[in-house]
Amino acid sequence: MESGLPSADFYGFESLLSDVERAKLRDVRDFLAKEVAPYATDWWNRAEFPLEVLPKLASLNLSTPVQQGYSYLFSGMVIAELTRADTSLATFFMVHHDLFVEALHEFGTEEQKSRLLDDAMDLTITGAFALTEPLHGSDVAGGMATTATRDGDTWILNGAKRWIGNGTFCDYMLLWARDTADGAVRGFILDATLPGVTRTAIENKIALRTVQNADILLDNVRVSETDRFAGINSFTDTKHLLRGSRILVGWQAVGQQLAAFDAARAYAVERQQFGRPLAGFQLIQQQLVRMLGNTTASLGMMARVAQLQQDEHLGPQGLPHSGADMAQAALAKSYTSSLMRETVALGRSIFGGNGIVTDFGMAKIFADAEAIFTYEGSFEINTLIVGRAVTGVSAIL
Ligand SMILES: Cc1cc2nc3c(=O)[nH]c(=O)nc-3n(C[C@H](O)[C@H](O)[C@H](O)COP(=O)(O)OP(=O)(O)OC[C@H]3O[C@@H](n4cnc5c(N)ncnc54)[C@H](O)[C@@H]3O)c2cc1C
Repeated sequence: MESGLPSADFYGFESLLSDVERAKLRDVRDFLAKEVAPYATDWWNRAEFPLEVLPKLASLNLSTPVQQGYSYLFSGMVIAELTRADTSLATFFMVHHDLFVEALHEFGTEEQKSRLLDDAMDLTITGAFALTEPLHGSDVAGGMATTATRDGDTWILNGAKRWIGNGTFCDYMLLWARDTADGAVRGFILDATLPGVTRTAIENKIALRTVQNADILLDNVRVSETDRFAGINSFTDTKHLLRGSRILVGWQAVGQQLAAFDAARAYAVERQQFGRPLAGFQLIQQQLVRMLGNTTASLGMMARVAQLQQDEHLGPQGLPHSGADMAQAALAKSYTSSLMRETVALGRSIFGGNGIVTDFGMAKIFADAEAIFTYEGSFEINTLIVGRAVTGVSAIL
């Protein structure tokens, strides 16, 4: 925040948190300002993930905050703050904690939890979430081609996964595969070092360069039955997990816009043209206000979604159509991410030429927004989930 200028949280949504949560959020901000923000552009330029940050990140004790008794609003605001400092670190955090660790909480057996949960929560081990495939992205639910074949006390996995975040270095993946016996989708805790697993980094990305996304090949990989998530019996169980993380991606869209507004306002106040700051031009002020309006609208929407989660009322209620349970999460993700795209484009424009080099911060914010727009169900797919819920007619197929 510029000194003397109001926060980008213009309506003070943070005041809805408890005192304990507000204090914790301040700790998160201090950590990010000291350990992340000064280095994030360098990690991004070099496309290297800062494993050395993990012990310090773990010391914040923020794994799956709702499981620890924090509110959904706090959990969302943590993701927004992480994203505001570095979208890539936030994405690492979400893949590991909100997909892999959350799955252990929800679907793990007592034995699996006692073996893995503590280490996963304090980041001694890291996890990934392997659902998408090279030939099946948006249609992975019906099209999943990775197979699991039961053989005594083990399963034999074959197939390929693509885009798997943390995939190059993680210890374990929650890997989804179709049972060749009955066609059901099953989930496995895959030890990433098992024979037959090949992981290759996806290079040359223009967004989230710090995140290590991987192509994964599975060639007759033998996994013990004790490493199957016994609580997962269908693709519907992925939806439960994805609904939670889809909402957090809406919070990422908030964080991305907070970052864009912070950066663009600071630049507009500082940069002089025609003998006065950019901020003194009406068109620039209009662009900044549009960015602030988008950010505030997104925050308001996500705060309401957090209330619905808190009240266990996420639905919407009374919609009988297939997929209705995902509709509010889908609207939050698709709408905030479309506002985000406008916000980061306005921010990039305020930086002029300096908006396309990462040295000035805004270019990275602009580029990283593209990943938010596409992952956790693309903008289009989430739009169609809402379209189906409000019309009763599916246009997805
Ligand atoms: C940076 C990044 C990180 C990711 N991390 C992970 C991860 O950790 N684990 C994981 O499992 N996956 C991950 N993904 C994969 C992500 O979930 C997919 O990229 C996403 O689901 C879209 O799939 P796709 O890229 O194959 O695009 P496609 O499905 O091929 O879609 C291409 C375009 O067509 C549109 N489209 C497709 N079907 C329809 C339709 N019926 N109607 C209208 N439009 C349609 C899409 O919206 C999109 O615009 C990640 C992706 C990225 C980019």
